[in-house]
Amino acid sequence: MQVRNHILEDVPFDASPHIGAAITPRFLVMHYTAGGSALNSVRAIRDRGLSAHFFVDRDGAIIQTVPCNRLAYHAGPSHWRGHDGLNSCAIGIEIANLGWLDRKEAGGWTRGGLTRVLPEAEVVVAAHKNGGRSMGWEAYPEAQLKAVAALTEAIRKAYPSIQEVVGHDDISPGRKQDPGPAFPLARFQHLGGAAGSGTLAENDFGTFEVSAREELNLRGGPGTGFAVLRKLSPGSRLRVLREEGDWRLVDLQGDAVPDGFVHGAFLRRLGA
Ligand SMILES: [Zn+2]
Repeated sequence: MQVRNHILEDVPFDASPHIGAAITPRFLVMHYTAGGSALNSVRAIRDRGLSAHFFVDRDGAIIQTVPCNRLAYHAGPSHWRGHDGLNSCAIGIEIANLGWLDRKEAGGWTRGGLTRVLPEAEVVVAAHKNGGRSMGWEAYPEAQLKAVAALTEAIRKAYPSIQEVVGHDDISPGRKQDPGPAFPLARFQHLGGAAGSGTLAENDFGTFEVSAREELNLRGGPGTGFAVLRKLSPGSRLRVLREEGDWRLVDLQGDAVPDGFVHGAFLRRLGA
């Protein structure tokens, strides 16, 4: 699976009319469709004036509708690591999944307006990480998750500018619940991350400290135009996950989760 000229090879491309300006992707946003098949969702989302770059069906079949370097309308009002409105810097993947099910009936779970009852084996019962009571969430079949994983790796290989994989419920908490508790986001968060990107040698992904005499700005992107997320004290320890020009994507907690960018001139590598 490979992205060439912003198009994923060997899958159907069904061009959406809802497409915006050129973007540099910095995030990958996971969604569920809240509906049935990916094909139906392509139509339903188009009819609402919205779009996403990719749709992944229950069996793992993929449809692309917007080139990866163009804006699609999937995130809506959203905020993450200093960025506002993630449509202008994110690739969106819609995953065919019914989402929440709030009614337990004999033999399974359903919700108002849904004509079928899902057997318990196809439902994950959990409270959403953003709050709310425990309910049912349609499970994601392994074939579908494998396809999302392969797609994630192909996209990150083609776009080293992508620093993180997030859920719609991360960037629009309270407003959005997808991809929800049934989606194993952690499995995708670092997939294809540092591997396909940057110019650091493998053994350079070591531990660094802030060598600036004063506090160093941690920013939401690789440049002084990006918002300051927080200030790092001189001597703070961090890991460099990736180079982007003079800037370094860093991890402050040692959990391999990217926390933001700092200028590389103010970092010193600790002894080997
Ligand atoms: Zn969504």
